[in-house]
Amino acid sequence: MTFRAFWVEKTAQGFTYSIANREIADLPDDDVLIEVRFSSLNYKDALSATGNPGVTRKFPHTPGIDAAGLVLESRSSEFKVGQQVLVMGYDLGMNTPGGYGQRIRVPANWVVPMPAGLTPATSMHWGTAGFTAALAIEKLLQAGLKPGHGPVVVTGASGGVGCVAVKLLSTLGFQVAAVTGKAAQHDWLRKLGATEFLTREQALDGVERPLGKERWGGAVDTVGGVPLANIVKSLKHSGSVAVCGLAASTEFPITVLPFILRHVNVLGIDSVELPIAHKRALWGRIGGEWRVDLADTVQMLGLSDLEAVVPKILQGGMVGRGVVDLSRV
Ligand code: NDP
Repeated sequence: MTFRAFWVEKTAQGFTYSIANREIADLPDDDVLIEVRFSSLNYKDALSATGNPGVTRKFPHTPGIDAAGLVLESRSSEFKVGQQVLVMGYDLGMNTPGGYGQRIRVPANWVVPMPAGLTPATSMHWGTAGFTAALAIEKLLQAGLKPGHGPVVVTGASGGVGCVAVKLLSTLGFQVAAVTGKAAQHDWLRKLGATEFLTREQALDGVERPLGKERWGGAVDTVGGVPLANIVKSLKHSGSVAVCGLAASTEFPITVLPFILRHVNVLGIDSVELPIAHKRALWGRIGGEWRVDLADTVQMLGLSDLEAVVPKILQGGMVGRGVVDLSRV
């Protein structure tokens, strides 16, 4: 039986994109066959679609690190035919055919039962980017972050991880400062809950000094590099930054001074290889006490829109979350 998939081929001229018919028989021989109803667009999907070797080595390939839909076949007693589920991370969409195909087949221990309170569509409003924002905030709270500690700064605020972090932090009662290169998005970010705005340049104020003014109670960083280092230098005593991404750089140029003089913490965030029990528990929280309507962050895409948005997200030009409706081919 065939299904439709976004198909990336590597040619001598570069990468080419099409919507192809694929065979279920060509999917990996694994526990759970899923009819994918929705997926989402993440920075990493664009890296996969453009051949970043740290993400995808084997072509032709179908990217898509997120997928949500219905179980069609299951060899696992944990999952029943017709059950709503989602899959995110592990090898999905990297070197395993991903959520930009209408079918995936994956190990049972990659699968998250759809939490009460979410549907295949709304879970993909979050997707990996939103889940990563939630994971960052969970870890900041575990490190002791409280609204009284001062504003929480979010970098890459108009992006997928950033905009969900802004909205969830604000909903949880935090004062949120947004660092964004897109002045045109201030009104939208204000509606999501940001109350203070910095340009990317303003976020680099005092960059030449080893320590800055104590300013931030905490931070969610999606960009890395000098902007991340400058935030660490401006954390209040005992503050923490959750380090999620590398949109600006993989570098982290800093001295030990903020650590030994201000007791600050750098918290690592990896949503991809997070143990499945933790993924299932946090998705339960996202569908429960942390349920936030993200419809105002979402633009709906079909498979045929992906070719145009891949370069846009790589250039930092996406706003909010791209959600892919697999019925729109
Ligand atoms: P997006 O492209 O949606 O958002 C990234 C944002 O970063 C952009 O919208 C832009 O926001 C800002 N930005 C882009 N380029 C630069 C630059 N050169 N300097 C400063 N800011 C820049 O990506 P996602 O939100 O999907 O992902 C963000 C990062 O998080 C990526 O690096 C991704 O790989 C990583 N990630 C990590 C995960 C993990 O488990 N650790 C999981 C998911 C994502 P603005 O214009 O508002 O400044």
